[in-house]
Amino acid sequence: HAKNQGKNRHAWFEPEMERKLRYRHDMEAGIRTGIANREFLPFYEQQIDIETGMIVGFEMLARWRSEQHGVVSPEIFIPIAEEIGLIGAVSEQIIEQAFEDAKEWAPELTLSVNISPIQLRDPWFAQKMLKLLVAHNFPPQRLEIEITESCLHENLGQVRSMMASLKNQGIRISLDDFGTGYSSLAQLRSLPFDRLKIDRSFVGELSRENANEKLIDAIISLGDGLDLPITAEGIEDNKILQALRAKGRMKGQGYLYGRPEEAHAVRERLGALGLLKLDSNRAESHSR
Ligand code: C2E
Ligand code: MG
Ligand code: MG
Ligand code: MG
Repeated sequence: HAKNQGKNRHAWFEPEMERKLRYRHDMEAGIRTGIANREFLPFYEQQIDIETGMIVGFEMLARWRSEQHGVVSPEIFIPIAEEIGLIGAVSEQIIEQAFEDAKEWAPELTLSVNISPIQLRDPWFAQKMLKLLVAHNFPPQRLEIEITESCLHENLGQVRSMMASLKNQGIRISLDDFGTGYSSLAQLRSLPFDRLKIDRSFVGELSRENANEKLIDAIISLGDGLDLPITAEGIEDNKILQALRAKGRMKGQGYLYGRPEEAHAVRERLGALGLLKLDSNRAESHSR
């Protein structure tokens, strides 16, 4: 009898494992052909000066439009691409498209891109970025790189020199998802960050009255103390926006302003605002 039960458990277990293995295998193969077929593309999320309500730039968010899997979230394919050593190829593909897209926008609009800790480990990363910037004639001063605190668990000396070479080119560097990792104040002070992005898990809770408001205040005064400007991510409603506005000048992004959208939708949005590169009314409408 016991033997039978064991067999049954086995019979249930094996197809489940097989299914997972097949899924994983499909995803890996899909990422490889996806790179070859250029199935990876940028979406863009608005970044706003919350005081004026004006668009100051966009964060590029990777999407994978796969024939087999539909539009796949980066939360799913980025970790797999990292594991199989293809994150650099995926990232390069979307960044190249983003440079071409962003060149059509008003030149004061910034472009933020997320970079994986694995990419930062590559000693040639800064050179590769420079090569892409030159190839696409995109000004490094418009580019902002977002890295997370997990980058700081790597060899800190290497991270520091990588940051230095990026900054020498004029690229700015933000610390993304701040508050969710384990960076120490000493690390924060010793690295040349240009901006802190408060993780949306803190911001989203602002609409309810609780202790997170004090955490946000703490992060804001930390930013003040370190002389780092702040971006609040995950602003979902007006109540949150008003609460943040009361705390001072910062950038914000979130579903209140809009979901991440494709290049053509961004172009339409910017066209309506007179914020395309070739817009002759641009200067006037932007300063209004
Ligand atoms: P992230 O850099 O912190 O990006 C913010 C994420 O929050 C995005 O999810 C965005 O769509 C979502 N979001 C924005 N506003 C709101 C809001 O108001 N409420 C809620 N609930 N969510 C909001 P997405 O696009 O799924 O990206 C997830 C993560 O994947 C990103 O987090 C980033 O860590 C990573 N990622 C995206 N693109 C790339 C990339 O090109 N390279 C690398 N290495 N990572 C990427
Ligand atoms: Mg980000
Ligand atoms: Mg973030
Ligand atoms: Mg995040």
